[in-house]
Amino acid sequence: ALVSLFGFLSREQTSKMNRSGKLRVAVVGAGAAGLCAARHILSRADTLEPPVVFEQSARVGGTWYYEERVGTSDDGRPIHSSMYRDLRTNLPKEVMMFPDFPFDSHLPSFLTHWDVQQYLETYCKSHDITPHIKFNTMVEEVKPISMETDKGGAVRWEVISRGMHGGHSTQTFDSVFICSGHYSVPHLPSIPGIEHFKGKVMHSHSYRCPEPFAHQSVVVLGAGASGVDISFELAQAKAQVILSHTKTALPFSLPLEIQQAPPVVKVLDNGSLFFQDGSVAHAQVLLLCTGYNYHFPFLCPKQLGLEVQHHLVAPLYKYLVLPAFPSLFFIGICKNICPFLHFHYQIQFALAVLDGTVQLPSHELMDEDAERERQRKTQMGVQVKHLLQMDSDQWDYYVSLATAAGLPPPNPVIQSLYEEVGRQRRANPQAYREINYRLVNATEWQLLNAPSEQ
Ligand code: FAD
Repeated sequence: ALVSLFGFLSREQTSKMNRSGKLRVAVVGAGAAGLCAARHILSRADTLEPPVVFEQSARVGGTWYYEERVGTSDDGRPIHSSMYRDLRTNLPKEVMMFPDFPFDSHLPSFLTHWDVQQYLETYCKSHDITPHIKFNTMVEEVKPISMETDKGGAVRWEVISRGMHGGHSTQTFDSVFICSGHYSVPHLPSIPGIEHFKGKVMHSHSYRCPEPFAHQSVVVLGAGASGVDISFELAQAKAQVILSHTKTALPFSLPLEIQQAPPVVKVLDNGSLFFQDGSVAHAQVLLLCTGYNYHFPFLCPKQLGLEVQHHLVAPLYKYLVLPAFPSLFFIGICKNICPFLHFHYQIQFALAVLDGTVQLPSHELMDEDAERERQRKTQMGVQVKHLLQMDSDQWDYYVSLATAAGLPPPNPVIQSLYEEVGRQRRANPQAYREINYRLVNATEWQLLNAPSEQ
């Protein structure tokens, strides 16, 4: 039942298609995932042609490129980045880095978005990726084209792109890496009566800084990473903040200036917000920190047998491979992960599939495996909306990808420091970023300064 991609796409077929006999790979997006994909494709020049990286904007970095502007850019594109001005990373640089590319050792552990953008630009430069990026080029369609229609025939991909300054182009590839990110299209919950709300309704995607909200009453909806961080920023800027969320109890205590409330269930005719416990509040701003939708406008899910819901992309074998089309790879779909480390392993596993080092199971077995994983999580009580959250599962996942692809697994120090930062965040969500760490060796880290009292 084991069929490698070369089973679908024999060397003979490939060499007929590319005079070089090498595979052509398209990468959609030049954020951290797309740059990592390009870097590893370039390092396999014996089997792969240099990649074509399509990037709709004029620069690399994706969500780390901070844009003060909200809404749409000059060329009419929706602003991609969801960064806010004073954001500091929620992972220390020692955990966040690509394992083969450390951050500048002079930087503190918790970084600004400028630091991360600078890092990604340096990564791009160091690996000479820029010549392979088509900037200002938006992928409009990615569709499979069958080369051989009989069973097991090779599938290639047609990528149709549009230059932001006009002109369409169609190119064919043997494989496509989707690295388009999933923190750009706001998820807007439906709140009955919202049309009666008299204040401003906005999503965290368009939040940049707290000053405009000083002395205003703001209800922040959602206590995820952004909801909590933004609530702190707003309270410090003297806004009156109510953090409304679905959790029975937050894993940490909030400062007195931030009130908590259960979810908003409706807006009353007089414009006030009605919470689940029957309480009511007037607010000038309703700030939705309600997450983002998965969004692949360039794919036809029906044609691919792909289910895309706002919180789910399925079925994916190893959260990465579409079983029916095993040369299409979705990079970084999961949440609650160490993103750069995650990309590092997923991309090298995918490349090991392309060069035949990893033999993928058959379509049916990959489907079954994805379904088994879904059942495992469901039986553990994981809600459908959280199926793509990895948390502590990520470590075994990296080991499994690494083992299959013949790569060293992550150093144990990364997991240990990640868990320590989680503890510090719960103990002191406002000040945990003041701490600095140092990696001593593959298993040990060291605290460089103690956290201050809240
Ligand atoms: P993106 O960075 O979103 O890049 C996708 C790229 O694809 C963009 O450049 C976009 O323009 C391009 N693109 C999209 N569609 C098309 C198309 N059709 N055609 C051509 N180009 C296209 N991670 C951490 O590790 N630490 C943190 O502290 C952290 N904090 C975060 C805070 C916020 C507010 C957000 C939103 C995310 C945070 N993340 C953090 C997660 C972050 O998303 C990842 O670190 C990582 O940057 C994701 O990279 P990506 O390449 O997958 O996506």
